[in-house]
Amino acid sequence: MRLIRQILNSLRNKIHQKRVLSSQNTSALNKDGDNLLVCDDPIIPRLRELCINFTSKCKLKCTYCSAGKDGYQGFDITEADADILFEFIKKNNVRSVVFGFYGDTLESDLWSKYANAILDLGITCRIHTALYRQLTSDEIKALSRFSTIATSVDTPDRLKQAHIRKGLDLRTLVYNIHLIKSYALLNHQKLPIFEFNCVYTDHVAFDLCNLITFAHSIGINSVSATDFCDFEQFETPYQSVLSLNHAEIISIHSHVKKAIDIANFLDIKFDFQFLDSLNRAAMGEKLSSQDPYKSNMYGNVSFYANTLRANQTRLCIKPWDNVSITPNGEVFPCCTYGENLGKISGYNSLESIFWGDKFNRLRKALLNAENLPIYCKNCQAAPACSTSELADTLKIATTN
Ligand code: SF4
Repeated sequence: MRLIRQILNSLRNKIHQKRVLSSQNTSALNKDGDNLLVCDDPIIPRLRELCINFTSKCKLKCTYCSAGKDGYQGFDITEADADILFEFIKKNNVRSVVFGFYGDTLESDLWSKYANAILDLGITCRIHTALYRQLTSDEIKALSRFSTIATSVDTPDRLKQAHIRKGLDLRTLVYNIHLIKSYALLNHQKLPIFEFNCVYTDHVAFDLCNLITFAHSIGINSVSATDFCDFEQFETPYQSVLSLNHAEIISIHSHVKKAIDIANFLDIKFDFQFLDSLNRAAMGEKLSSQDPYKSNMYGNVSFYANTLRANQTRLCIKPWDNVSITPNGEVFPCCTYGENLGKISGYNSLESIFWGDKFNRLRKALLNAENLPIYCKNCQAAPACSTSELADTLKIATTN
């Protein structure tokens, strides 16, 4: 039975890949020998990155997250599914692997075994993790091999931070960062890039400049700020800065501009992800919050959408080069898409999902700016652009 299933699966994969290839004329290996497809039709997927969520468990207990509520129970990936993903990575020449987009990877017992095996293949690995408790020596060793380590920090104010993310003590986090760096230095390894990811609310709005100087002082290379998403089911004491009155928005806007100048001066990469929306609000445009809808695996959220004008699409190549998998095998094009595009099972391989109809429909929708799913329409992660800009970006991405 198992053998028949494997044969059927393999046949199905071949049919899917053949269908993609036959709809184009050309395929090629790129200069690194990757099995990338190169041709004029930008619909061809060029998988580069796999995001694995080893667990949906998290002990950070963020005030505004379902995973922070009493009674929340996360779950882990099974070893069988982790094996499938590992084989997929090897077979498809995946260039980079991201660990954890919801949940804290380090809460899974399996993560370091697979992380080390993937790193041994020479694949670039990035991780988003909480660093909220003192790390073990094995964890430090594995983490020191990552190219990028991102962690959630909203403010340098330790007590305020512990109020927002109840499990987080900044002193432990900073200590862990130094342990990882010193291990890497001791072993002549390249230092990982460290990133702070801030959820930017009214509560931390004026801490941003100080967050950047704090980051610089401990050798953090990159800071990002995202708008606050309101979970429908929770009362939270915070709100999006875009919901404030115009005078407050003006003063926050000028603080953000100052933060950008400081980051430039200190040579820190700073990505304020909803700058366009904040600029528009500062100019007096009344932005409106979306009605709540399922935006990710944790539930319904509402937020101030980064809206599109007629005929605009998103400058996003994720559905072409990225695939994200939750611990129960659900497959998404990115971490902000509220609906899975398939689930890995005995009959449904990751290949057949990634090269399948649902992914292709999404790619066509983005390319043509037609029938865009609500997640892409409202996406905060990708700026608006014209369809030709997206097509050009895809062509460049093919050859690089
Ligand atoms: S939700 Fe955003 S990041 Fe995800 S596929 Fe759509 S545009 Fe891209």
